[in-house]
Amino acid sequence: MMKIKPILGLALASTLLISCGKTNEKAAKEVAEVVTDVKKKVAIDFDHTVEQFADIKVLRYQIHGFDALTLKEQKLVYYLTQAGLAGRDMMWDQNYRHNLTIRKALENVYANYAGDKTSDNWNNFEEYLKRVWFSNGIHHHYSNAKLTPAFDQAYLETLLVATNTELKGDALAVIFNDKDVKKVNLAKGVDNVAESAVNFYGPGVTNADVESFYGKNGKMISPDTKKPLSFGLNSQLVKEAGVLKERVYKSGGLYGAAIDQIIGWLDKAQGVAENEAQGTALGLLIKYYQTGDLQTWDDYNVAWTAAVDGNIDYINSFIEVYNDPLGYRGSYETVVQIKDFDMSEKMSVVSGNAQWFEDNSPLMDEHKKKNVVGVTYKVVNVAGEAGDASPSTPIGVNLPNANWIRTAVGSKSVSLGNIIGAYANAGGSGRLKEFAHDEEEIALEEEYGQLADKLHTALHEVIGHASGQLNPGVGETRETLKNYASTLEEGRADLVGLYYLYDTKLQELGLVKDWEKVGKAAYDGYIRNGLMAQLIRLDLGDDIEEAHMRNRQWVSGWAYEQGKAENVIEKVTRDGKTYFNINDYKKLHDIFGQLLRETQRIKSEGDFNAVEALVEGYGVKVDQAIHKEVLDRNAQFKSAAYSGFVNPVLVPTTDNTGVITGFTIKQPKTFSEQMLSYAKNYSFLPAVN
Ligand SMILES: [Zn+2]
Repeated sequence: MMKIKPILGLALASTLLISCGKTNEKAAKEVAEVVTDVKKKVAIDFDHTVEQFADIKVLRYQIHGFDALTLKEQKLVYYLTQAGLAGRDMMWDQNYRHNLTIRKALENVYANYAGDKTSDNWNNFEEYLKRVWFSNGIHHHYSNAKLTPAFDQAYLETLLVATNTELKGDALAVIFNDKDVKKVNLAKGVDNVAESAVNFYGPGVTNADVESFYGKNGKMISPDTKKPLSFGLNSQLVKEAGVLKERVYKSGGLYGAAIDQIIGWLDKAQGVAENEAQGTALGLLIKYYQTGDLQTWDDYNVAWTAAVDGNIDYINSFIEVYNDPLGYRGSYETVVQIKDFDMSEKMSVVSGNAQWFEDNSPLMDEHKKKNVVGVTYKVVNVAGEAGDASPSTPIGVNLPNANWIRTAVGSKSVSLGNIIGAYANAGGSGRLKEFAHDEEEIALEEEYGQLADKLHTALHEVIGHASGQLNPGVGETRETLKNYASTLEEGRADLVGLYYLYDTKLQELGLVKDWEKVGKAAYDGYIRNGLMAQLIRLDLGDDIEEAHMRNRQWVSGWAYEQGKAENVIEKVTRDGKTYFNINDYKKLHDIFGQLLRETQRIKSEGDFNAVEALVEGYGVKVDQAIHKEVLDRNAQFKSAAYSGFVNPVLVPTTDNTGVITGFTIKQPKTFSEQMLSYAKNYSFLPAVN
């Protein structure tokens, strides 16, 4: 609910719209669907792709900003990543009761088998193990279906014998049989608890049991009903001799051995906390892991949410509840984050000049805000992930989940900048070259595209959504503009960004060195995407439904038509291929300004007929000939359906007394290398818990 996941792991390109105040899964889907890899360039000096297998692509990312940290801050990052990894095996056991048994056996085979490694069988075994690693268990990380090996039980048994590996009974059989086929079964009309393989509930526990334990008539009652505790979040519910009881995840409880390791690292982290608020929060998290007490969990979340100063932040605990068919139990996850210093600087410059941007915008005077306040938008760079957040990662996170804390204290919403960047760069420059009109367009995109995107994001988020005001007496847009409210709002925020992207002001503010080139790259990218490239996300014959895709098309389409008489954007056909080439950037800037003025008028007046005409006229229907052409041209770029990441490895350097003096960052060469190293260094749980 509060996690923004990239759908199907397709390469992402635009950081736009990631924190548009929407955090549910549907919004997450939308966000991921609008991003596209055509806008980005290849990172010349860094290879983001590790390897590809089955439906998976494994990528790597860089920890931007790590070198800018003090040694003390670097230690904090290191301790937090170690705390995260120490709990890795909890996620495996939470996902399925046989996962650790199976993984340990498969890893032993993989490390020790000395027989034929050229056969299809072996290749299939290796691929299966990689898929299991990627999913933190034997069920697909996204579809939840049990993975099907392409080898048979007899072959696996020969490997087990050859490597002296023990794997028998249910744990062996379940790899091949039809038991526990779904990790999470949300089907209607079945007992979801009993039918889900996930290990949150012991054998024999049913939906009715869970309802009787936590429901209205159950025993779990919060002392303060206005601050309901998150019952069930950190335990397994089992039935012993017919009696339901919780096995709590805590020191001395379920997963205690791993949790003690986490506590040890958090303790070190607390010792190098950046400030008192951060230290207090870490102390409460330690106490929570020690006691499993849910009041402490809430106290921790309040403290964590309030701890906003500092360059480093983190997520660590049992958090998202998607893997529980009934939504009580949290999956273990961690993300360690470093502030994106460059982006934060840009945001603060834009925010500090918000009133100038408002005053100088093409809005009608009565629609301008007299006192505009920039929206806060936070970008961080990931330094390490574990548990449910790895290898498959979110691209943004908005926590805590408890609604009463969100209302009373607020929440933290962040975009994971280097993860988004790595997705984008892994796409390569093939699509850019296919859809760009000429060499100049390609060169501008490669040199300035990334900066243009960053600035567009900053302008869209910080001043775009903050700009403008409703006329007195006009209702909120969800009432006046109804189903078109969100596409109008996203388009309007895009237009604020577009209007100022081609403006000397950005150079005056020191945000760019060459405002014209950055502006051209931004306009090229927007038009290329809005009129053509984004259609690769759509099946032929379908209308555009998604709000952001719609706004990109109606903004681009309206601008194209508006400038047609003067050939502002030219439709070019060359060798049977269509291109859109911008001939006059200055005029396009003015057209964007006109459309911005009009969209603000629609919003301010609540003009439903106008927004309907705009969106239905330009944003919904797709030119079928162009769509077919785009899909044909795109077919050459094959991409795995899902992506995830290996983590950079932080290696401390020490003096001869063992004191940490610095860190080197190593990138894993292969996925297997990292998985085997994690198994070796962070296996703190027995196979059966
Ligand atoms: Zn937005």
